[in-house]
Amino acid sequence: MSVPLLDLRAQHARIRDEVVSEMMRVVDDQAFILGAPVERLEKAVAELSHSRFAIGCANGTDAILLSLRALDVKTGDEVVTTPFTFFATAGAIHNVGARPVFADIDPDTFNISPRAAASAVTGKTKAVMPVDLFGQIAAVDAVRAAIPDLPIIEDAAQSIGASRKIGDRTYMAGEAATIGTFSFFPSKNLGGYGDGGMIVTQDEEIANRLKRLRVHGGMKTYYHDEVGYNSRLDALQAAVLLAKLPHLESWSAARRKNAEYYNAAFAGSPDIKTPYIDPANVSIYNQYTLRVRRRDALQEHLKSKGIGNSIYYPLPLHLQPCFAYLGYSEGDFPESERAAKEVISLPVYPELEQSQLDEVIEAVRQFYGN
Ligand SMILES: *Cc1c(COP(=O)(O)O)cnc(C)c1O
Repeated sequence: MSVPLLDLRAQHARIRDEVVSEMMRVVDDQAFILGAPVERLEKAVAELSHSRFAIGCANGTDAILLSLRALDVKTGDEVVTTPFTFFATAGAIHNVGARPVFADIDPDTFNISPRAAASAVTGKTKAVMPVDLFGQIAAVDAVRAAIPDLPIIEDAAQSIGASRKIGDRTYMAGEAATIGTFSFFPSKNLGGYGDGGMIVTQDEEIANRLKRLRVHGGMKTYYHDEVGYNSRLDALQAAVLLAKLPHLESWSAARRKNAEYYNAAFAGSPDIKTPYIDPANVSIYNQYTLRVRRRDALQEHLKSKGIGNSIYYPLPLHLQPCFAYLGYSEGDFPESERAAKEVISLPVYPELEQSQLDEVIEAVRQFYGN
């Protein structure tokens, strides 16, 4: 027996007819670029995210890049973000010519520490970019309180549909920031059958600029106000996502249920720390990530038992060779470095069978002998 980390074929098998019929509508219409399916998806994601505007784009990395451009972030500017995230967060900052400035994480949530973020701000800082790691919304409200004058881009690639209580209101991923960015990479909770991304905002001016930037910087064909990109959401991907979106809530609930099952099984183990979810948050568990003792040996053991797992992320961004020019060194962000050595993610996808959950638990327990 074996349990994969993610089984997209199991998901596809359950929704095949809905997805294929949405896709075939696009094929039969022969209208592949933007158009009705993209607009319908934008409307649906804006609703889900309690946002006035949603703008589809080519992928989650471009969603960040376009957002930085829409805020005029450019050469000489700095953007404060976390070093414990997927590479794209900081790569996009670099690619608009700005400098990624890192701030350490909160060791419980793995998300950027608002206090550390505030200390990293200089006169050159143009924006702050918290990341909703593993499906849990970052403390965007605390970041805003600590740094009230700067726009916030929330990298919500892993958190679409997650929520966070702020005051007496419930905010959705992307809603509380100046701009929120999503990815529809196949392994995200709402994944396409290829690449895709989306940006949400409450700000009409930013929304209009984003719509221009994704089509070479002009609203009117062949007239260009600024140099933009070719970064449109593919209509076929929008069709797939329209078929999948109605399932998102139940899929995320199934992930939470799986996470709770693991939590109960691992509770009390001296070797395992189960995920901490801020009581204000409802996570969508894009990943179920433990902190463990003897992580590398556990990973070997799970591999030998055929249990899918992965390390998100093994090397914090301030230590990546491509960012050597930033001048950071080991020890600069101790919580991110410690997390990189201790985390391991286990299968949490919604279609997991009871027997598979038990197999994962049994393999972990066997390793620790408890
Ligand atoms: C997946 C991801 C991205 C990038 O999304 P793509 O669609 O793959 O470009 C950005 N940030 C985070 C945190 C991600 O997990």
